[in-house]
Amino acid sequence: MSRVDAKNIWKIYAGGVLAVKEVSFHCEDGEFLAILGPSGCGKSSTLRMIAGLEDITKGELLFDGKLVNKLSPRERNIALAFETYALYAPLTIYENIAFPLEAGGMKRKQIDEKVKQIADMLDLTDVLNRKPSHLSGGQQQRVSLARALIREPNVFLLDEPLSHMDQRVRVLLRARIRRIHDELKATTIYVTHDQEEAVSLADRIIVMHLGEIQQTGTVDELWNHPKNIFVAGFLGEPAMNFLETKIEKPTQISLTTGEKKATFELRGKVDEKYVGCEAILGIRPERIVVLADKRDEQSAPSLVEVVEPLGETKIVTVKLDDVELKVVSLREVDTAVGKTIYLKFKPEDIHLFDKQTEKALLA
Ligand code: ADP
Ligand code: MG
Repeated sequence: MSRVDAKNIWKIYAGGVLAVKEVSFHCEDGEFLAILGPSGCGKSSTLRMIAGLEDITKGELLFDGKLVNKLSPRERNIALAFETYALYAPLTIYENIAFPLEAGGMKRKQIDEKVKQIADMLDLTDVLNRKPSHLSGGQQQRVSLARALIREPNVFLLDEPLSHMDQRVRVLLRARIRRIHDELKATTIYVTHDQEEAVSLADRIIVMHLGEIQQTGTVDELWNHPKNIFVAGFLGEPAMNFLETKIEKPTQISLTTGEKKATFELRGKVDEKYVGCEAILGIRPERIVVLADKRDEQSAPSLVEVVEPLGETKIVTVKLDDVELKVVSLREVDTAVGKTIYLKFKPEDIHLFDKQTEKALLA
């Protein structure tokens, strides 16, 4: 397996479409790296450049320190599974999965063992003798994944490989993909727009937006220390709440609702120059503390608008002045529609962003 280094990589398509802008990252030997971002942000373009299916407009791509920009996909020895499956229609599923091994000259008996093993892992045992056209989209995608995972390449490149499967199967296969990765210690770069998928699979995540890397880090780093509003809002469901706030002191902010002001302490200090300025406060729905009665000045009154029960918890939509917030609270908390509840934000849960640059103000 190989380490991958991408250095200042750009992709500009014919016609001047700027798809990837100065992207730099690395994937350690054996690491599982996810590239996460909304549709059109340049994930597939990045992966296709690593695969050798697209020219790199500018920048350097290295496998184990060796420049591979000019190498063909075959010479790079990568295994690919894309969203579209491109199976060989005349061949059976067995033959499709066995194909890369036969092309590599492996012995029949060993091929047979490997095909059966991977088919078992991906629930394809029952369809090995069928032709691709007799399979559902989700099954065909699993065959494509099996065909990639059966090889021992330098790098696995997977682009939304679970997108055509239903939710239950996706969750099941996530665990299997991770297990296969751990067994093979395979360097894996996995593209997805699904934050849950990235979070559950990857050692580290690259968050992309508009062709640029927003932040690279472990799930904990991205979750607890998002560098900007985009990253903060992209991870988490329901998403982080954002509302305008005023910086009173380097360690204190305030919210004004009606004529009343509530103040909240910060976990750190913001630069003196921000005192008196407006900023964007971010708070995750799960971290808001709900008080049924107003207990002190450090809580903000808000009106319950909608309640969505989720079993042990519920998502409560409230209005704080004219801003809608989502709060996840325990089932037993009294949040009847039309009631005023009081919200409290703890210092360690408050994120703060510059209103203009949208960058985090607290480390
Ligand atoms: P993602 O995989 O994150 O959805 P893509 O890498 O597919 O994003 O696309 C990034 C941008 O590049 C989009 O604006 C897309 O329209 C554009 N794009 C992708 N492929 C091509 C192409 N072959 N020619 C021109 N523009 C392209
Ligand atoms: Mg894509």
